[in-house]
Amino acid sequence: MSQCRAMSKRSRERCKKHALIGKNVCRIHGGASTGPKTEIGLSNMKESKTIHGMYTQSSLRELREFQGMVNEYKKHLKDMANV
Ligand SMILES: [Zn+2]
Repeated sequence: MSQCRAMSKRSRERCKKHALIGKNVCRIHGGASTGPKTEIGLSNMKESKTIHGMYTQSSLRELREFQGMVNEYKKHLKDMANV
């Protein structure tokens, strides 16, 4: 059994309880949590954890599309210069 990885804010000491099986923390420090269950809860969690949204899948997809357009434009300009 591993030890709980939670740290006390006041004493700065590590929790001395055993972590739950397959988890890194004990029951008191969130090991019993199963995460959000409903779609609303999941969206609330995503919203609270998103800082600026620069690395979300949709924004990365947009960035890749934009980079592809820029590369095509560069290729087109190079072809025009060679002709
Ligand atoms: Zn703990």
